[in-house]
Amino acid sequence: MASDTPKRPSLKEDLTCAICYDLFTDPVMLACMHHFCRACISTYWRSLRGAVSCPQCRQEFPTRQLQTNYLVAAMVEKVRASSSEGFRQNLQKQLKDSLESYRTKMEEYLNIIRQDEEKVETMKRVGAELQARVRGEFQALREVLQQEEAGLLESLRREEAELLQGAEHHLEQLRGAVLEAEQSMRVLQQAFDAMETSIEVELPEVNLRPAVQVEKETDADLNAFISRYTGPVQYIAWRKMLKLLKPAPVPLTFDPETAHPSLCLSRDKTVVVESQEMQPYRRNPKRFTQCVNVLAAQGFLSGRHYWEVGVAGSRKWDLGVALESVDRNARAKLSPENGYWTLRLREGRYWAGTQPWTPLDLDGTPCSIGVLLDCEGRRVCFYNADSMQLLYTFNSAPHGRVFPFFSPCVSERGHKPQPIRILHFPLDSL
Ligand SMILES: [Zn+2]
Ligand SMILES: [Zn+2]
Repeated sequence: MASDTPKRPSLKEDLTCAICYDLFTDPVMLACMHHFCRACISTYWRSLRGAVSCPQCRQEFPTRQLQTNYLVAAMVEKVRASSSEGFRQNLQKQLKDSLESYRTKMEEYLNIIRQDEEKVETMKRVGAELQARVRGEFQALREVLQQEEAGLLESLRREEAELLQGAEHHLEQLRGAVLEAEQSMRVLQQAFDAMETSIEVELPEVNLRPAVQVEKETDADLNAFISRYTGPVQYIAWRKMLKLLKPAPVPLTFDPETAHPSLCLSRDKTVVVESQEMQPYRRNPKRFTQCVNVLAAQGFLSGRHYWEVGVAGSRKWDLGVALESVDRNARAKLSPENGYWTLRLREGRYWAGTQPWTPLDLDGTPCSIGVLLDCEGRRVCFYNADSMQLLYTFNSAPHGRVFPFFSPCVSERGHKPQPIRILHFPLDSL
């Protein structure tokens, strides 16, 4: 316990003279190791007759010689200075400053903790929302599949019932015909028997109607029935699902009015390639005249839209979206600041079109790139469409109408220009 341990005298007490009860002034040490102020011990000794002694331990000394203890003197000076008003104020200020600095630091930490806690809450909320969203997306797919399955099974059952009904009817007809034939046979047999026992030859009164004609085969075409339900059922369902996807891949086409004159478009406007010769063209404000760019004919202001671009074999390209308002006669850097949200390939490396460019890590060389434009979410995302790996997301996507953007770029010297193409899926024919 703290109360049991004897209290050690403070440094100030150690440096206090036992005669004047004040801090030493010009401290001297006697041979007995006790200290006193030079003046105090001198005065004390002057009062003595004969041998001098230490007032504390009474040890006697042969001489009155006194030696200043500079070490103790220095310590006394320190203690005196530290107990001065100025020193105290200074120390107080230091303590206060220190305290203030800790308080500020603590508030800072508490703030960060609050922010972190909010972040954690947001993460949890966003996680839950995303989970619900993913579930919803798959539920929609399942519903489509279930409807397809139910519809197909229903029509199968109906056709089966019709076939069975037809077969039953045919059987009934046949059984009736058999009965009729049996009856006719019986009458004929009787007539035949009568002729054997009688000489009279007369025609029996038999109604010899021609036998009922029943078609041998039913009308039902079992083979057609089988074919209808053993076809590529999954593929048929998949094509129907593809049409219901949101967003479904948009069947874009290039807008020839926007194409730089040295770009050559395919007849169906889905393939673009750089040409060595300028193509004949009409001047119009939509056309890119400085860079080998082209836009799609379809622009978007709202909703979510997805499309894929085939880039197999191409060594250099830019693609993404551009604001309708971009200056077609300027040699602009492709960056969001200038109205372009793009991905690019240069010298075998992939980059996001930021300023400066952001390098991307890709496994392999994609043959097709997917672009997702989310107008409300103001996002433009790029995917390796071969694996659907997300490559890059612009989170500050455009305000205003945008158009899908493409540039096959000017081919490198010694390399044949390679086309890039807009990929279409079998949706239009459905
Ligand atoms: Zn003294
Ligand atoms: Zn002494």
